[in-house]
Amino acid sequence: MKKLVKMKLRCEVQVSDHQLCIKKPGKAAFAQVSVGRKPGHKDGPIYVMICTAQNRNGTKYVIWKNLKQIFGKFVKDGKATVRFMNPPHDLAFSKANADLLDTFLKVVKLVAQGKGLPDESLSSLAPASLKQVERPVTSLSVMSPSEYPMSFPKSLTKLMICNCRLRRVSPHVLSLNLLTTLDLSFNSLSSLPEQMSQLKSLTSLSLAHNEFVTFPIVLCKTDVRRTLLVLDMKHNEMHSVPSCIKECEKLQSLVLSSNKLHSLPQCLGHMKSLTSVSASDNKLQYLPGSMLRKTWELADFSNNPFNLSIDNSTQAASFAVPSLAEWSARSVVNHEVQFTKEDLDLHSIQYVQGAHFCVCGSACFETSVRATKKRPLWATSAYQGDVPLQMHFCSLRCLKLFNSSKR
Ligand SMILES: [Zn+2]
Repeated sequence: MKKLVKMKLRCEVQVSDHQLCIKKPGKAAFAQVSVGRKPGHKDGPIYVMICTAQNRNGTKYVIWKNLKQIFGKFVKDGKATVRFMNPPHDLAFSKANADLLDTFLKVVKLVAQGKGLPDESLSSLAPASLKQVERPVTSLSVMSPSEYPMSFPKSLTKLMICNCRLRRVSPHVLSLNLLTTLDLSFNSLSSLPEQMSQLKSLTSLSLAHNEFVTFPIVLCKTDVRRTLLVLDMKHNEMHSVPSCIKECEKLQSLVLSSNKLHSLPQCLGHMKSLTSVSASDNKLQYLPGSMLRKTWELADFSNNPFNLSIDNSTQAASFAVPSLAEWSARSVVNHEVQFTKEDLDLHSIQYVQGAHFCVCGSACFETSVRATKKRPLWATSAYQGDVPLQMHFCSLRCLKLFNSSKR
């Protein structure tokens, strides 16, 4: 067990009477929760004390022979309930720091079992200061340069900075490690710093209406790729999206509308979490064949100069036997073999990364047939018509199968 240090837990607390037939829980209030003895009572009983803005002196619950039960199944989500006998109250904690809540419950349990606790793990139960019971600011919108603050509250989880002519993301913003939603739309950004990786909880990022000419590769190369669910890059100047976007393993929604895209990466249809893609108002002549691999929740490709007269497989003349290099590279990709710069030389890495994907899902390289096919895209909403798809086929068998199928 971790060393028990004196700690103050700050979270939402909802008090309810568990003896009432009809449960009527009180409103959740932001509170400071501590465990300790009354000041000056060195050997006195140990209490849980709840201090709120309305009651800074606090309500105390003696623990020894008074704790009935601890409901700690959802500690990881920052939630738990502690039940006392007298008064018959349930204290439901939520929005707590999971680690602190876990330590708090362990301390309460030890006291209830009558185990001795080192004094340094207990607090002196003095009334809370106003600052200690103030609900932390979690959301902030800055809508003009004049509103831009000198510093940002560390507790922010949502931050919107729009119309501020930002050319770079400030280190103050990058130090907000609780941020889950960051909206930097309507600025003058054209790149992102490496330190984006400090935003360990970032799930939603909007860079819409900025000046990105190239895709900010930092998003695929740093830890952001492990948390990001939603990326909005509409109304920028991008000409392409790199295939490394597939490193954003949790990405569910990608908005690329109103850019200057001529093509989309083949990997899009292979990204397991991705269910929504918007790339309307671009310069797309065809879509990657992998888009046929799933039914999209949303797939919007309206207002693109699609050439629907193309439907060919003219290069299907013959399939040569793939080279040994190609067979090896196909295996590396198909079996998701992990490799580093020490395992493969740069040329081989580039070769492997240039994989095309057949409709069957297998990787293929120069020994493949490229064809443009017209097929309807399956999506629950938006563009429903035929779209031209740039397809790759790894073998004559796959090509024949595809030609004879309806999709
Ligand atoms: Zn195939």
